Amino acid sequence: MEKYDVVVIGAGPGGYVAAIRCAQLGLSTACVESWLNVRGRPALGGTCLNVGCIPSKALLDSSHLYMELRRHGAEHGIQAQDVTVDLGRMMERKNKVVDDLTRGVAGLFRKHGVQWLRGHGRLLPERRVEVTLLGEQAGEQIQVQAEHVIIATGSVPGALPEAPVNNDLQVVDSTGALAFDAVPENLAIIGAGVIGLELGSVWNRLGSKVVLLEALPRLLPMLDDAVSGALSKLFKNQGLEVLLGARVSATRTKKRRVTVNYEQQGESKSLEVDRLIVAVGRRANTAGLGLQECGVNLDAHGYIKVDRHCRSSLPGVYALGDVIGGPMLAHKASKEGTMVAELIAGKRHSPVNYDRVPWVIYTWPEIAWAGLTEEQAEERGHRCRSGRFPFRASGRARAMGSWDGFVKVVGEVETDRLLGVQAVGPNVSELIAEVVLALEFEASTEDLARTIHAHPTLSEALHEAALAVSGRALHA
Ligand code: FAD
Ligand code: AMP
Repeated sequence: MEKYDVVVIGAGPGGYVAAIRCAQLGLSTACVESWLNVRGRPALGGTCLNVGCIPSKALLDSSHLYMELRRHGAEHGIQAQDVTVDLGRMMERKNKVVDDLTRGVAGLFRKHGVQWLRGHGRLLPERRVEVTLLGEQAGEQIQVQAEHVIIATGSVPGALPEAPVNNDLQVVDSTGALAFDAVPENLAIIGAGVIGLELGSVWNRLGSKVVLLEALPRLLPMLDDAVSGALSKLFKNQGLEVLLGARVSATRTKKRRVTVNYEQQGESKSLEVDRLIVAVGRRANTAGLGLQECGVNLDAHGYIKVDRHCRSSLPGVYALGDVIGGPMLAHKASKEGTMVAELIAGKRHSPVNYDRVPWVIYTWPEIAWAGLTEEQAEERGHRCRSGRFPFRASGRARAMGSWDGFVKVVGEVETDRLLGVQAVGPNVSELIAEVVLALEFEASTEDLARTIHAHPTLSEALHEAALAVSGRALHA
């Protein structure tokens, strides 16, 4: 039986990063991965690279380009006649982006000496892992022995019994919605969370009439009221209809049409669409892992229970990424991955600070935030003051022709410590990195206000919002 210092199960952004870092630290490392790509070939990268972050961003970028040319080309003096979508070509491009990146991870494994075991992993007692092989040896089983096991098996789309998914037909999950073969005329999406809004944006831009049904009374309740209110208006102007307080009670598919029944304000309503996307969140992927048999405890929601250093209830077995819950984000999984690798290698590492995980929704305008909202900060006993700056007053946003949105900076009254930033606007996904760095260094809003920002850049909006905390914004 092959012996390793570390065996990682799952090669998403949590598992593959943990494996590479373990190898960098001199530990003999194997990573078990069972993903098969669209051509039926084993692939690394997990949900993120294959059916998550990357393909969704590829389609968001393609559809954004299309929308810019159609709606805004003429403003820039660019006359483009008959701009049309070749969906097949767009999907090929997306698949190529995915292929290149997943092959890139395989290259990194080779470079760092991580052994890729192609197959399905199952935990056995005494930190042994059984691997049911894929490919030429399909069905054969091998066992490997590890000093430490890292479980990074990720998550799968959450199911809604009222809307059973069949990805080849009309009702799909996020994976099916990244591979439509035609632009649906009418599309409904259950769930206006991060994934629902991004997929809704893609298909709305490409020409679908999109309705999102959201059970909660407010859009994106993790943002503060003013921000989610402003977003509702922006999405409406784009033709993205969001029905709030709308709980789906049943769906029926007949002759390639889907009827969706829902309850809203005590009334029973229904709508009919060509296709329906179920985007009601994700759940831990622990099927067939043999966890409970070995003594790895799960919580009431099915996530693996871990301590602040991602240690499970079974000594020598760690778990990280989506399978332990918390923010279901690739960079959160990767951060946990590096932490666990360093701990295994005997280094010290402070626990991940989940208050400093940046969040981004890649709609247009983009939405990004880090730290606390004013409401959350007040709930934790901070007295807050805030400053806000609109992109309409940003020279760079004007030059781009994209100035919807604003930046809001929240600081603490007594100490001026930066508590959080929420931003809606062009490319705020990039701007949020500065905020996270400032939070890491426990900067004050004054620190941000005194920092020189290049002109003309979108980051000046963050600078001005920091100045606005003390009523000193110069351009608003
Ligand atoms: P995963 O990426 O889910 O990887 C787990 C891997 O484990 C998989 O490859 C799986 O095949 C493998 N596996 C599972 N069980 C076994 C087993 N028994 N044996 C062998 N292998 C196994 N996050 C962001 O930060 N930014 C975004 O823009 C973003 N966009 C998203 C868009 C969509 C449509 C979706 C669905 C998700 C998106 N996410 C985004 C979330 C992100 O994809 C996840 O948070 C991230 O992939 C979690 O990483 P992970 O390593 O925990 O698990
Ligand atoms: P996220 O967790 O960000 O992926 O978002 C999933 C969204 O789906 C949440 O905002 C939920 O409120 C919403 N949701 C869950 N179940 C239903 C349902 N039956 N009808 C409408 N929305 C739902």
